[in-house]
Amino acid sequence: KINIVSDNNVAKHHLEYIIKGLDQSDIDHNLLLIEPGEKSKNWENLIEVSEWFLKNNIERGDLIIAFGGGVIGDIAGFAASILLRGIDFIQVPTTLLAQVDSSVGGKTGINSSKSKNLIGSFHQPIAVIADLDILKTLPKREFLAGLVEVTKYGLIYDVDFFNTIENNLKYILNHDHLKLNQIVSKSCEIKSLIIKNDAKENGKRALLNLGHTFGHAIESFGKYDGTIIHGEAVSIGICLAFKLSSKMGYCPQNETDRVISFFKKLTLPTSLREVQGLSITTTGMLNKFKYDKKNKNNQLTFILNEKIGKSFIKNNMDEDILTKFLNDEI
Ligand code: NAD
Repeated sequence: KINIVSDNNVAKHHLEYIIKGLDQSDIDHNLLLIEPGEKSKNWENLIEVSEWFLKNNIERGDLIIAFGGGVIGDIAGFAASILLRGIDFIQVPTTLLAQVDSSVGGKTGINSSKSKNLIGSFHQPIAVIADLDILKTLPKREFLAGLVEVTKYGLIYDVDFFNTIENNLKYILNHDHLKLNQIVSKSCEIKSLIIKNDAKENGKRALLNLGHTFGHAIESFGKYDGTIIHGEAVSIGICLAFKLSSKMGYCPQNETDRVISFFKKLTLPTSLREVQGLSITTTGMLNKFKYDKKNKNNQLTFILNEKIGKSFIKNNMDEDILTKFLNDEI
């Protein structure tokens, strides 16, 4: 028996596609739709999803399908990991962000009132099925947000990949199938390379967090109401991480300028001043950093860059430097 979790937007465009396939193969299925958006990644919905599985008499041999973006993958995957101590699940990611990032690597979870993704587990899907055609219905804002995570891989690990994205932007934005295939595959390849030896993030996996310490804090100022979405917050976060790297003398300023102009060209936000109505303060940001999962012994950890294509983990970040940096940025 298959239990599908999806959201109303995805269902509107693509439910028929998946249901037809299951019907034709005579596979029993149940469907739960939840409200689209980041706000849904909460305790209440986790309870709703889990109780719904139980009401359907889910058994250990059944299968869960997370059919949607990162929000659906994270919450359905988390429920799959705790129900009956773990049920198999398949990710069918329907956003660019989910195809290149959230469906790969086994992280699942929900947000807490303190910050993002603080409650969760590692639970690997038994398969990830990414169909590029499904991205055709994705709103442009969401596509651009996904492109931020694609770009992140180039910035962390592979300058050639960053060059490829920069040089092929026109084709990528036009959903050219071949180019999309290249960037989605390459992103998944880089993510798996980084996490291969560090599935539970005790070391190098943290590099994938480039821009996310700032990004998660910004997102939680937005109360997850869609004012700013994950990829947009990460776009600002990556630009801030590069700026900070240059300010601290780790990264040449021209590399930072190149990154910022790249995101500007995509019409993505690149600074805190561009976000309207979130009342972001230095103290508020510092408080949110304290909940970051990368911290060790109460010391803040950041991902910084030596150049495009080379990130590193900076432990024991000096709070005075951060305070001054944020005061200048806000
Ligand atoms: P999302 O799931 O909210 O989807 C974005 C929007 O697009 C939603 O409104 C959704 O209904 C709609 N949508 C999805 N697919 C569509 C389609 N094909 N056509 C039309 N509309 C569609 O957001 P997201 O950007 O996919 O994921 C962001 C989430 O992923 C965040 O919560 C973030 O924390 C999480 N994330 C998790 C990991 C991980 O490793 N687990 C990694 C990165 C991000």
